[in-house]
Amino acid sequence: MAIPGHVHDHDSGEGLLAVDEARERVLGRIKPLQPLELPLTEAYGCVLAHGLTAERDIPDFASSAMDGYAVRSSEVASATPSEPVELRVVGRAMIGERPEGTVGGGEAFAIATGAPVPAGADTVVPIENCEVTGGFVRILSGTPEGRHVRPSGEDVRAGETLVQAGRRLQAPELGLLATAGFSHPAVHPRPRVVIVSTGDELIPPSRHAEYGQVHDSNAYLLFGALREAGAVPRIAGIVKDDVDAFKELVLSNLTQADAFISSGGVSVGERDVVKSAFFRRGEVDFFKVAMQPGMPQGFGEIEGKPYFGLPGNPVSVFVSFEVLVRPALMKLMGRRQLFRPEVPARLEEDITGPAGKTQFARVRVRRSREGWVATPTGGRGSNLIATVAKANGLAVVPPGVQTAIAGSSVKVMLFRSMED
Ligand code: AMP
Ligand code: MG
Repeated sequence: MAIPGHVHDHDSGEGLLAVDEARERVLGRIKPLQPLELPLTEAYGCVLAHGLTAERDIPDFASSAMDGYAVRSSEVASATPSEPVELRVVGRAMIGERPEGTVGGGEAFAIATGAPVPAGADTVVPIENCEVTGGFVRILSGTPEGRHVRPSGEDVRAGETLVQAGRRLQAPELGLLATAGFSHPAVHPRPRVVIVSTGDELIPPSRHAEYGQVHDSNAYLLFGALREAGAVPRIAGIVKDDVDAFKELVLSNLTQADAFISSGGVSVGERDVVKSAFFRRGEVDFFKVAMQPGMPQGFGEIEGKPYFGLPGNPVSVFVSFEVLVRPALMKLMGRRQLFRPEVPARLEEDITGPAGKTQFARVRVRRSREGWVATPTGGRGSNLIATVAKANGLAVVPPGVQTAIAGSSVKVMLFRSMED
């Protein structure tokens, strides 16, 4: 409530929640999503919920690394081209089949690369060191025990850890789990996030904007940001500044959502539909964070599903997502690293902002001989989305610093890879 005579100076940051406190408030209420057993193709990119151990040796049979003859090493040790050792060929070991019979004294098995080594043999003589005559093979050069044999358990022994809990499943882990016969690992699933845009002025990007109308950009910005974070976004659509319509849209999506993000309608205007709607008191809290952009925020839970009520301006949406929503999504997905990587960078131009708040300034960073260098990509207005599209980082100018001057060092959160 406005107190007569009291000047509200938001630039001072007085009475606002510090960025770290806001993060803690959000993260303190987020728990990783319940593990699900998903097929490997869907588990890709997800965090393994329970560690997995090999149930059998990998590989679980000894196989030949060469085409040749499986023999007893002790019998061929003396073989030379002038004094070869002649063995009787008693069988053929084929790929994918259990060898029939064993290699006894004076005997050999023909064997193909990848075929199981028959019992009794302990080495494989490559084909180029053999001469075949009728049912016999002449070994021209002996091979020591174990040579050209891939032993069972060479890769992983039964009982060894394959992948630890908390590891994100990428290509090598999928390959390893498939090798070990785990087709449905238990992982923290990707959160399904429903995106709601609020505002009477909004129209879809496919429609021509009449004077005063605004294309809904936040839905698409959030869609991309969610995808990049590994979530499964769904654009529920635009809803007018009408409390009932808004509630209806949110509630009708409840069963298919793990979290909600809306944009707009969280300030103090009478049309601020998100703020007026909630719901049962206390479900969603509205607070001001000492950050620029992105000061007004709503956060809470509806039926246990996190609800993020972001401000309306596109840059505020982007920064709020990066600072508050993305870490929460990472936690939902069971990820250990919740935050973007940060690098120290030397500023090429001054950045001026509100003294009492953390300013997240859009910058383009690059590596130079002397380390990272950051250049602001434009003005600080929270409607200037083109400045985000030119940037690859957010320079963090802490409270207490009105102007970060050219030449000084700032921390930069990197939100896209250098190659893009
Ligand atoms: P609000 O917080 O609802 O007052 O919105 C603040 C500003 O953000 C207004 O200029 C809105 O037109 C703009 N805005 C709100 N939602 C969107 C959206 N989905 N896409 C683009 N601009 C938006
Ligand atoms: Mg609005």
